[in-house]
This record gives sequence, C-alpha cells and structure tokens, in this order.
Amino acid sequence: MGLDEDALDYHSQDPPGKIEIATTKPTNTQRDLSLAYSPGVAAPCRNIRDNPSDVFKYTAKGNLVAVVSDGSATLGLGDIGPEACKPVMEGKGVLFKRFADIDVFDLELDADDPDAMVGAVSAMEPTFGGINLEDIKAPECFEVERRLREQMDVPVFHDDQHGTAIISGAALLNAAEIAGKDLAELDIVFSGAGASAIATARFYVSLGVDRENVTMCDSSGIITDARAEADEVNEFKREFASDRPEGDLADAIAGADVFVGLSVGGIVDQEMVRSMAENPIIFAMANPDPEIAYEDAKHARDDTVIMATGRSDYPNQVNNVLGFPFIFRGALDVRATEINEEMKVAAARALASLARQDVPDAVVKAYGDEPLQFGPEYIIPKPLDPRVLFEVTPAVAEAAMESGSARASLDLDDYVEKLEA
Ligand code: NAP
Ligand code: MG
Repeated sequence: MGLDEDALDYHSQDPPGKIEIATTKPTNTQRDLSLAYSPGVAAPCRNIRDNPSDVFKYTAKGNLVAVVSDGSATLGLGDIGPEACKPVMEGKGVLFKRFADIDVFDLELDADDPDAMVGAVSAMEPTFGGINLEDIKAPECFEVERRLREQMDVPVFHDDQHGTAIISGAALLNAAEIAGKDLAELDIVFSGAGASAIATARFYVSLGVDRENVTMCDSSGIITDARAEADEVNEFKREFASDRPEGDLADAIAGADVFVGLSVGGIVDQEMVRSMAENPIIFAMANPDPEIAYEDAKHARDDTVIMATGRSDYPNQVNNVLGFPFIFRGALDVRATEINEEMKVAAARALASLARQDVPDAVVKAYGDEPLQFGPEYIIPKPLDPRVLFEVTPAVAEAAMESGSARASLDLDDYVEKLEA
C-alpha cells in the first residue's frame, strides 16, 4: 500500500483519530467516584478558590497544552480550514505525548480574524499550562501571538515561527564553527519572508548575527528600503529591509556565507551555489521539496557545502520535534509565564552542544548504522535521540529561572535525574 492509503487506514481504524482521554486516578468504587466528582471534588475547588496557584496541585493544568489552529496555513496544504487541519493538530498532540509526556487538547477554531482568535484563546487561560499556536498564516500569526503573549500568563509559542528558528539556529551555530566563520560576520540571505523566515531571522540576531548582514527576499525579490518606503511590504518584512539595490535572489546570494530557504522548492540552482562565499552554509528548508536538492548543492563545488533540509532522508534534518516537546516540558515544570528569548537561545545552544558529543550506539543503529559524528553531515541531533530530553529540557528550565519567567524553582540536578528515570 502507498503512504496515502496507509495513512487513511491508520487514521480510520476504530476508534477514529489518534487520541483519547485517559483517567489517572482510581475510578472503581462508589467512594472513588465521590472523590473524583461530587461531593468530594468540592474540597480542591475551595482550596483553589482560596489559593489560585493550587490549580497546579489539584488539576491537570500544569501538564496540559492547547494546540490551537485555524487551519489557515496547514502543512504545505494552505488554508484548508479548521476541520481539515484536525489530523495535524491531533498528530502534534501525539508528538507532545510521545517525546515529553505532555497532554494536549487540540483546538481547531472557526475564527476568521485575529480578534476572534485572540478572544477565544485568551479566555481559555484557566485550563492550560501553555498554548502552542500552529499553522496560522502570516502575517496574522505575528499579531495573534504578540497579543496573546501580552494578555496571557502562560507560555504562548507559535511553533511554525520559533521551532524552525531554534532548530535551524542550533544548526547555524555548529555550521559556522565548522566553516570557521564568526556569527557576527556571517552574510545571510533568506528566501522567503513569511512566518518561519521572519522569526528565524529575528532569532539569528538573538544568537549574535548582525541584522545589517541579513538580506531577505520574498516572491518579488530583495526586500529593499526602496520597496519598504514605497509601502510594498508589510511591517514584518520592513524589519529586514536592506539598503542594497533592488534585485532577485541570484543577485542577493552572490558572495553570501549562508542561504536560508523558507519559501518554495527548486528556486536555487548550482550556479547560485557556486556564487556563494567559501564553505557555504545552505539551509534549504522548503517542504516537501527544498529550494535546491541536497545532491545538487553538495556537488555544485569542491569545497565543503554544509547543508540542512526539512527532509528525513538526508543528513541534518531541521525537524521541529527536536524543540517544542522539550521547550514546553521545561517551561511547564517551572510554571513559566512565557517562553522568552533567553529560553529559546538556551534550547538552541543545548541542541548545538549535544551534536558535538559522541552519539550512543542505540541512536546510530536507529538511523541505519551511518556514522554520526560532529561535522558537515551531522550538525544537529537526530529526532529520536533520547538525550535531547535530558539536555534541552533542563537548559530551558534553567533559563526560565534565571530570566525571571519561572513561578516555581527546581533543583537542576534532581530534575535531570527525574527526567532520566
Ligand atoms: P509562508 O508564511 O507562506 O511564507 C512563504 C514565503 O515564501 C513568503 O514570504 C513568499 O513570498 C515566499 N515565496 C513564495 N514563492 C517564492 C519565490 N518563488 N521566491 C522567493 N520567495 C518566495 O510560509 P512558512 O510557514 O514561512 O513556510 C515556508 C516554507 O518553509 C514552506 O515550504 C514550509 O514547509 C517550510 N518550513 C520548513 C520547516 C522545517 O524544515 N522545519 C519549518 C517551517 C517551514 P511573498 O511574501 O512575496 O508571498
Ligand atoms: Mg506547523
């Protein structure tokens, strides 16, 4: 059977879908039920009424994340609406559970504008320990996330923006090291100026890239000051407008150290790769087809091309599952009020440093026995590497405590032991 048929079969087996609710306390006797519900349940209610933070003690809030979408930018499928995006959001819940034991309610909203989405999500704050926004189109996603972050006291994280930024940011830290280049000196060209590209460019600046060295292209070419002044671009693209002359992607990429593709497949050719600086770094992350095929980029020139894509069948897959489960795990465990820049940077640095360590045999075996050793073909950990939980999660929790977003404090050594147990 083909993948499509298999997937339809997988989803439609009884019970339909991929998730169900399970109870965590005994429910066998009349007494159990009178503890779970009325009349016994009134006792935790009263305690929470008198001491609101007891909600973490007596309910599932502290381990419950909402995966929220309007379906307006679902995978590569576009605006398919809230019902059609539900399999994706249930799937996100599966990943949260599988990788970090976090429970998810997937919430597909029939919300036509940012006001409706912000109103609906912010009203649900009492229920959740965190909010993962998913597959919401740009530029609305920026406004929705900004307003929710302002209004809510639990973490709000749009994974399509920050997941890609953090994972590829880890890859960038290591690629720069391998290429022998200084982050602050890197000349970086982006293809794409949507949700993931804008957030990634912002995050690279947090990591130490000089904003002046970033050139961003959208479907009309380089985003220049002239285009910004002529009001041809939205406020988010304007943030990365450059003072260089107008031109297309080929003009932009000549001489660049780094190409970051978050646009569409097949728009970079070998000539463009040859025009880049020595030991170029190419993150061609359009899905399912990268901006340039892995082989084409690698074979375009004789020096080392450090390449990452969004695909699992080539080295260096930028896969968001390396980030969101562990970032939320760390944030939830210190009852963080937000996922701030310090926590994101800590996650990227932890991933980068993990890729420099020796890889256990079990992980090598899981990936077909290919050697996994720090170098151009291995700049980020593999998604099924169990050590990601032990490295990224405490790094995020620690950054939350140090940056003041944590409402609970943890002993980090005890915490790592608990995670490893
Ligand atoms: P998006 O918000 O729709 O943005 C797409 C951007 O690509 C827009 O700025 C668009 O330009 C630009 N674009 C379209 N055609 C172009 C062309 N021919 N040349 C240059 N730019 C072009 O989408 P997104 O969510 O950011 O995702 C973008 C791509 O990255 C998708 O393929 C997605 O699958 C991929 N992605 C991969 C990962 C990963 O590997 N982990 C993560 C996130 C996203 P205009 O603004 O002019 O329309
Ligand atoms: Mg997504």
